[in-house]
Amino acid sequence: MMDEHPRRSAHDVALAQYDEAVSLMPDLNPNAAAIMRVAKRELTVNFPVEMDDGRIEVFTGFRVHHSTVRGPTKGGIRYHPDVSLDETRALAMWMTWKCSLMNLPYGGAKGGVIVDPKRLSQVELRKMTRRYATEISVLMSPEGDIPAPDVGTNPQVMAWIMDTFSMHRGYSVPAVVTGKPVQIGGSEGRYDATGMGVMLLAREALKHLDIPIDGATVVVQGFGNVGATAARYMHGQGSKIVAVSDVYGGVFNPKGIDIPELQRYVAQHGAVTDFPGTERVSNSELLELECTVLIPAALEGQITKDNADRIRARIIAEGANGPTTPNADKVLADKGVFIIPDILCNAGGVTVSYFEWVQSLQSFFWSEEDVNRQMERLMVNGFDAVLHEAERKKLVPRMAAYTLAIARVAEALELRGVYP
Ligand code: GLU
Repeated sequence: MMDEHPRRSAHDVALAQYDEAVSLMPDLNPNAAAIMRVAKRELTVNFPVEMDDGRIEVFTGFRVHHSTVRGPTKGGIRYHPDVSLDETRALAMWMTWKCSLMNLPYGGAKGGVIVDPKRLSQVELRKMTRRYATEISVLMSPEGDIPAPDVGTNPQVMAWIMDTFSMHRGYSVPAVVTGKPVQIGGSEGRYDATGMGVMLLAREALKHLDIPIDGATVVVQGFGNVGATAARYMHGQGSKIVAVSDVYGGVFNPKGIDIPELQRYVAQHGAVTDFPGTERVSNSELLELECTVLIPAALEGQITKDNADRIRARIIAEGANGPTTPNADKVLADKGVFIIPDILCNAGGVTVSYFEWVQSLQSFFWSEEDVNRQMERLMVNGFDAVLHEAERKKLVPRMAAYTLAIARVAEALELRGVYP
């Protein structure tokens, strides 16, 4: 989607957000500010994969560690045709702030491969994953850097990464990756965690604004793991999901869409398009529908200065990373839209990833009930902390979240000191 010209890259957006937050922190040590502004290390890998027809295809992938100050690095792996070093760098920085805000003992990382995974057979996907995992294994370990799913990857891909790493070591190393299937040491509740967290925070924001969740209207952009799960949980709370979209387009029904039924339809047809009882809407029309809660749960850069003034949502719950640009933020703040910023709103995933890592390290497993209870506690605490900071300092929630997160990393930096 178009933003200001020339188009702002994801990393430009991440830096603009960072610089704005730093400008709000007069006591921040300028040396710490300079260190946090750049990624610690960035790896680009080009690697061959033998395709089903015998051809060799060369893929390009990345793994970026933004910060290692508060612990090992943590962050997902994305398979998408638009993956780039610039985008991976932005996503890694956002992971640092997300982990810091949630007080998880991690720094931020992100990885990705430039590929449309839907184009590959299962065998090709497995070979590509194993080779990419091998290429980034110089950076990956349970103590150093722990990947997880993101756009275009899933528990099966995590299982292959875990297996590849384990084959190199000669024994199973489940803690090297999170978002694994439960059967090989994954955590109960991890698959639903991001979407459930989005619902929990939408619920908290609605409560704060005195709007009942039962009957609230909801629009969801993206019907992958995050969007579909958030829609299902909002539906379960009695909210009316009036529109949903995926990469192929959207569907709209002002009376509300039966989400479990839609999930069954998507499992059969591969897309939401033409779900019975709905009208078609484009992805851009969908964002501008009137609703109580808009959940962008696809890619970054969706709500920009070009469409921000046409957004008719009371609350934006950012399931995606970076869906709203800084210029759009200003327009939306003037309109009084309550934004639950990505680093808070979608932090349920990495929070349960943390629980999974702890369980994998200890080989001691929690019940789904325990996982969900601990996650809800941390998410609600995070919301309260951000709201409190926003009110105390008269900041929008995004800047409240950023300043809290950045201050915590800066504090760790100062305590550890500069080496040597
Ligand atoms: N990819 C997810 C995110 O953007 C999860 C990362 C993780 O669990 O490490 O937060």
